Amino acid sequence: MPAQILDGKALAANMRERLRAVRDGLGDRPIQLLSLEVGENPAAKVYIRNQKRAAEACGIDLVEKILPATTTEEELLGLIRESNQDDTITGIIVQRPLPLAFDARRVQATISRKKDVEGMNPSNMGAILYSEPRLTPCTAVAAERLIMQTGIDLRGAETVVVGHSEIVGKPVAILLLHHLSTVTVCHVGTRNLREHTQRADILVVAVGKANLVTGDMIKPGAVVIDIGINANPDGGGVVGDVHFESASEVAGYITPVPGGVGPVTVAMLMRNTLRAAGWEG
Ligand code: NAP
Repeated sequence: MPAQILDGKALAANMRERLRAVRDGLGDRPIQLLSLEVGENPAAKVYIRNQKRAAEACGIDLVEKILPATTTEEELLGLIRESNQDDTITGIIVQRPLPLAFDARRVQATISRKKDVEGMNPSNMGAILYSEPRLTPCTAVAAERLIMQTGIDLRGAETVVVGHSEIVGKPVAILLLHHLSTVTVCHVGTRNLREHTQRADILVVAVGKANLVTGDMIKPGAVVIDIGINANPDGGGVVGDVHFESASEVAGYITPVPGGVGPVTVAMLMRNTLRAAGWEG
């Protein structure tokens, strides 16, 4: 039987509606999300456009600042420090990719932990280990939320995360560990990827390689969360890290690309912005 589609667009629409009500409950004061971009980057455009739309729907003012491509790392850090002190700014997002010479970790660590709506500051990352996250990495928490949608009992479930980046793979592995699932993390050092993916009840893939995981690598009935966003090698549009056609014949649940994790990630960014504004939810 073909897999049930985990509809990220529908979940995100529902979240935005609820977040709008939360925002209205916070009163008339402006809630401002500052977006910083160094140089115009075509790869970031779609993501930023989606952020703008979501912010508008949630009653958040997204202020986009595109800095010249010649901006130095020190200049960017200076602007972040100023924005940390500016009470009219609720949250700060630095759009990726940054110029290659920039130290992305240093940039993220400079954002005040209270305004770090991407949840990438070391102190917010560290809070995940203690299971006390307030501003959680958006994509990781989006993947967790989509898995919860299926109603699967995570306790004791075999969970395999492919990819161990700081922004996605590692935090998602820790979040799923807190549910007492048995988590395996695969990466470039993994000897036989298929051996691991084939026994996963929950498979999360965040690598950035089109169609890396095919249907024959998936356990029948598994929950498959595809985080990858890649140019379609066959031309036109984007595809995930999972070969959707073959995987959806085997999996129990699967996220499409686009329309799966992406929209929920953006909704989580809005949730974090309202938390940064003082919402306790
Ligand atoms: P990244 O920083 O490049 O990390 C990729 C990870 O995959 C690394 O840990 C890498 O290991 C591992 N890897 C590479 N080749 C592998 C292989 N053959 N088998 C197993 N693991 C392998 O990328 P990222 O930021 O995590 O993003 C991953 C993908 O998710 C990208 O396509 C990105 O566009 C997408 N993404 C989507 C969203 C969303 O909202 N939907 C958000 C963020 C990212 P090493 O580090 O050891 O090389």
